[in-house]
This record gives sequence, structure tokens and C-alpha cells, in this order.
Amino acid sequence: MAGARLKCIHPDCSLEYSVDSVAFRCEKGHPTDVIYDRAPSTGLKETFYARQNHRGNIFNVSGVWRFRDLFNFCQVDTEDIDACAIRFVSLDGSEGRQTGPYHMKQASEFAGMDEGCMWLQTEGYNPSGSFKDNGMATAVTHARMVGAKRIVCASTGNTSASAGMFAANEGMDCDVYIPAGQIAPGKLSQAYQFGAQIVEVDGNFDDALSQSLHDAQTGGGYTVNSVNPFRIEGQKTIPYRALEYLEWEAPDWIVYPGGALGNTSSCGKALMELYEWGWIKKVPRIAVINAEGASTLSDMYNGRYGAPLRWNGGRVDTGIIDEYYGRDGRPATGATAIQIGRPANILKGLRALDFTGGVVATVSDAEMLDAMSVVGLNGFDCEMASGAALAGIRKLVRDGTIMRDDRVVGILTGRQKDPMLSVEYHNNPANRFAHPPKNRGKG
Ligand SMILES: *Cc1c(COP(=O)(O)O)cnc(C)c1O
Ligand SMILES: [Zn+2]
Repeated sequence: MAGARLKCIHPDCSLEYSVDSVAFRCEKGHPTDVIYDRAPSTGLKETFYARQNHRGNIFNVSGVWRFRDLFNFCQVDTEDIDACAIRFVSLDGSEGRQTGPYHMKQASEFAGMDEGCMWLQTEGYNPSGSFKDNGMATAVTHARMVGAKRIVCASTGNTSASAGMFAANEGMDCDVYIPAGQIAPGKLSQAYQFGAQIVEVDGNFDDALSQSLHDAQTGGGYTVNSVNPFRIEGQKTIPYRALEYLEWEAPDWIVYPGGALGNTSSCGKALMELYEWGWIKKVPRIAVINAEGASTLSDMYNGRYGAPLRWNGGRVDTGIIDEYYGRDGRPATGATAIQIGRPANILKGLRALDFTGGVVATVSDAEMLDAMSVVGLNGFDCEMASGAALAGIRKLVRDGTIMRDDRVVGILTGRQKDPMLSVEYHNNPANRFAHPPKNRGKG
């Protein structure tokens, strides 16, 4: 069993902490990573595949824990189901389970891709309805490992739904900080139903996050936002599942909507590790898609107001970030899950873009709604923010960044929880995929 540690990501610092601490940042304030002492054997590819025949072992049913050897920070014997059951938190194996990559014909035509070249991975089909469950399984596992009784998060909706569901299952308390009045009712209702304590903050998501981090630190709560490196570990299974499906032949692109950049960071870390371990020969490029109204990463990465912001070997010019955050303006998009002005994982996000030769683009609300709607025509549903992935592929194909015959995996991050968006979309005949109701009068 390989050892694991927390390590600061800054090259001039590299402070280390024990894996059973909550040092999500080093004492100088830099983010930390979970790192492992030994490279896992590529023979595990066979093990993961064989576990799909789960024989009733919920840790093999789970699309997260099936890959447990690649983030074994609990340092348990991964073949000992009783040992796993003592340490790992799972929603009876359902996290990451029904979230495969699919060809979707109409969506692929919409994107302008050649047939058979694009897959969309349905992370909304997780038990609480978003990809957040992948990372929550590992974060709550770590919370238990350090003896936490109460988990805390700020949320645009899906994090709270996921945290609430896991907390209820584990008999833990859960505090959820939300920007008052800005959460889709379908998401908020989940947090209430799972018995979470809602804490309203006047302001936006960024304000709710700062408040929750402060309160967790002073009040002894355990933070499960994606600033928690153990969440990042579980979310590595999103690219694992795509890569396993493609028989570990890396695609050309993996495309994510960008909010707090937890997913981007996590995908980047997964690819860095797999490449270093010799599991993949080629590194897919990551494309991050911002909403036009919440385009912090795009603005800075693409140098909208000055020098482009880059990872720069870990010596990021944080002056660019401070200057940007000093500007006026609050994020504004109907895609509330990515309505974030200060992406908490920006440094790790930049590292991911650097390692993979990534790109960042923006799409409009109308483009996201069209994309969300065309996904529906394939018999799947996703929320507006997830539409950013497909709308982004379309945009990058049009501008020649993605080739029509590249192999592309887009991540549909969440399921539709704001049903009035679809009703309104389809009742407006001006919308591209609208299918308005017929009226048969009094009959
Ligand atoms: C949380 C969330 C996002 C943003 O993901 P980050 O990892 O914060 O960038 C995108 N889409 C949906 C549906 C989400 O719930
Ligand atoms: Zn440091």
C-alpha cells in the first residue's frame, strides 16, 4: 500500500502535511494536492474492468470506488471489502455508476462534429443529480477519517444537494451557505429534504463561499467545497470512466463547463498522474467553457485586459488576478451553476490548462439553452450550465480549434433541476429547437 501526503503545489514552497490533517492550504496560503508515494501498476486496468462484474461488492458497483487504488489516501487493503466498508463512504455504490459517455446523434450534428467522434458523459445521472457526488464520496470519507461531525459548503445548488444527501446517509450534520434568492428551487428543495441547515448569505456565490470558509474554520466544520483536495481526488473518476470506455486511448479533447474549476483541476491532476505513471501515451487537451456573463477565467487566460494569465511553472502572476478582482462587475448568467466570479481553484485550473495545452472559451446563455435542448432530443437531460460543454464544442469546431474528426468527450455536469427553463424555451417559437404546444381550443 502506497503512502499518501498533502503537498503544497507551489514549486518554491512544497510544504507537506499528513493525509489525516485538513491542510487544504499550506501555511503560506497555497493550495495543496494529495500525492502518493508509488505509481500504481498498469495491471490495475484489468482489475477495474473485472470489477464491473461486481459480485455484490458495492465498492465495485460504484463508478468512483471501482478505481479506489488510484486515490487510496485511506491506505486500506483495496481488495478487503470489510476494510473498505469501514473507511469508504458510498451511497450504496450508486455514485458515478450510470454516467457513461454516449454518442448523441443530434447533439453531434449540432456541434458540427463528424459522426461517431463525439461523446457526452452524463454526470447528471449521479444519485443527487450532478457530478458533485463523485467528489463528495471521497471528501466525506476524509471528513470521517479526521473525525468531523459536521460538513459545511457554499453552493450554487448542486454541491448542497450532494453534501446534504451524503450527510443524511452518514448521520452527519450539514450546513449549506447559499446566495439568498439565487438557487434553482429544484436544488434548494433537495438540501431541505436531506435535513441540511440552510444559511442564507446576502450576496453572490463568491460571498457565500468566503463566509462558509470563515465559519467552518472558526466553528469547527469540515469544508466539502472543491477547495478540498479530497473532493478533487474523487472527481478524477470522471476522466477515468471516459478513458476506460475508450480503452485508455486518450481522446483529443475533454470539455467542461467552468465554474469554480474543481472539475478542470481534477481532470488535470488525473491526466498528469496517468501520463506520469505510463497509463496513457497521449494527453487530451482540456477545453473550459465559461458563460459570457461569468467569464473570469476566459478574460484572464485569453488576456482580455492585459497579459494572459498562465501557470508559468507554478509562479503565477497573482497581480493579474488581484487586479481583475478589483474591477467592478458581478457575474450574471442564467446558468447559475457556473455563475461564479472568483473561481476558487484558479491556480490548479491554470496548471491543468498548462499541462494539457488547454483552451478557454465563452458561450452565451442562448447557446447554452440550445445545447441543453438538443441534448434532450437525444433522450437525455442536462441543465443549462452543462449545455456550455456542448455549446463550447460547437464554437471551437466553428473557429477551427477542434477538428470535426477529433475525438471529443464533453461532460454534461448536471441533470435538469430547473424545469421552467425548458417550458419557457419550448413555448417561444423563436428558439432553435422549440417545440411549442398545440392548442385545440374548447374541444
Ligand atoms: C458545480 C457545477 C459546475 C461547475 O463545476 P466546477 O468544478 O466548479 O467548475 C458546472 N455544472 C454543474 C451542473 C455544476 O453543478
Ligand atoms: Zn505553499
